[in-house]
Amino acid sequence: MLLLCLAVLCLIASSPCAAAPPWNSVSELHSLFTASTKNKLLLISFDGFRWDYDRDVETPNLDKMAQDGVKAVYVTPPFLTITSPSHFTMLTGRYVENHGVIHNVWFNTTTQEKKQYYETQFVDSYWDNGSLPIWITAQRQGLKAGSLHFPGTAATYKGEIVRVRQVEPRFYDHSNETDWRLNIDKVIGEWFHQQDLDFVSLYFGEPDLAGHDYGPDSPERREMVQQVDRTVGYIRDKIQDHGLTDRLNIIITADHGMSKILRGGLVEEIVLSKIPGFSFRDIKFQLLDYGPVGMLLPKEGMLEKVYQALKGSHPHLRVYKKEEMPARLHYSNHPRLQPIILIADPGYIVNGFLPVNFNKGDHGFDNEDMDMKAFFRVVGPDFQKNLIVDPFDLVDVYPLMCHLLGINPEITDGHLDNTKHMLVPRENTGGDNKSKYLISELQLTLKSNHYEHFDQVYLI
Ligand SMILES: [Zn+2]
Repeated sequence: MLLLCLAVLCLIASSPCAAAPPWNSVSELHSLFTASTKNKLLLISFDGFRWDYDRDVETPNLDKMAQDGVKAVYVTPPFLTITSPSHFTMLTGRYVENHGVIHNVWFNTTTQEKKQYYETQFVDSYWDNGSLPIWITAQRQGLKAGSLHFPGTAATYKGEIVRVRQVEPRFYDHSNETDWRLNIDKVIGEWFHQQDLDFVSLYFGEPDLAGHDYGPDSPERREMVQQVDRTVGYIRDKIQDHGLTDRLNIIITADHGMSKILRGGLVEEIVLSKIPGFSFRDIKFQLLDYGPVGMLLPKEGMLEKVYQALKGSHPHLRVYKKEEMPARLHYSNHPRLQPIILIADPGYIVNGFLPVNFNKGDHGFDNEDMDMKAFFRVVGPDFQKNLIVDPFDLVDVYPLMCHLLGINPEITDGHLDNTKHMLVPRENTGGDNKSKYLISELQLTLKSNHYEHFDQVYLI
């Protein structure tokens, strides 16, 4: 292509014709070859969209997207299957023990201080601890990146921020469809179309909240999936309206699924204070009541006592010393992880003194559990059409995104080999659609200016 560009420039420079050369098109064409010719990329996460949520409700827009692109049966999120850890895996391609965002809650085991999800967004050191999110990598390699409401957006990484960003206010209604559309208008109309961004991550807080409040099998959750479906239709319409369909790839996925919690006297709940031999007096720090996973830091010399009291104490509670955690979970090798890790089986949650968590649905369970699997769809010029592929891991999305954007990835736990079969063969990609358009425009201009040999040049 560079050869073509030079040939065109030489032809124009040496032409005897008196008509003014089409400098605008030529300089635009030249800038095209000096800049990236890769397509743009929009990464969308619908929090808690379980892999099978489209099976019990009409989803015409998601179905159309699957016809026009690729659908994975599901993706396996990293463990711990909760919002901040899993989203940071999307952004870095690293397992949770490697990127260090180990929980939605920030904590200090000495002062006992805890910060909840929203507050943690502004604790730079919580996010910036060794792994660089894709926005920063893209910016360092000359691309323009943006992020709207995606976990991690507010933080500074090695002194850099994602330059175009919107962080939600503290009390934000994550379910409001009107707001969703305003956000989409901003991302598509302003960020991609007007500001010409190359990559944007866009986050929606549903259907997670509906799944928690009403349960994954509820009519409210099904209604919210229809809202998601309408939103996907709206996004694709906006992309079409702005003429971006052939230049923008879309990945839609989620951080985790959702599982129904068993209650109402039907089951024996897990309440640590009721377990014989276990005492909170032996505990220096605890992270409990946040769903199915808890962590404990026993006081000096008490680890074995606490461990033995809890192990085997409830048929649906798995108790691990940190170093005993199954390697496949990739959730043992980080200093922020505490010495004892408790994992409840699906349907159960880990309570401390007494039950305080009354969610009808929850997540955070073992990522082998089918209820924790998330959905995955892609559409765009670089992807095949009407293709269903086998499951892969969420860590594999990062190298795919880097490949699509044409940037060199950081160290990653994911592999492009696990996703590249979704791509159209290289020579057929739409990556050069913009250049094809400009070349044809240039061809017309040259012809109108009597550059008779242009066709010959074009064939070089
Ligand atoms: Zn949730």
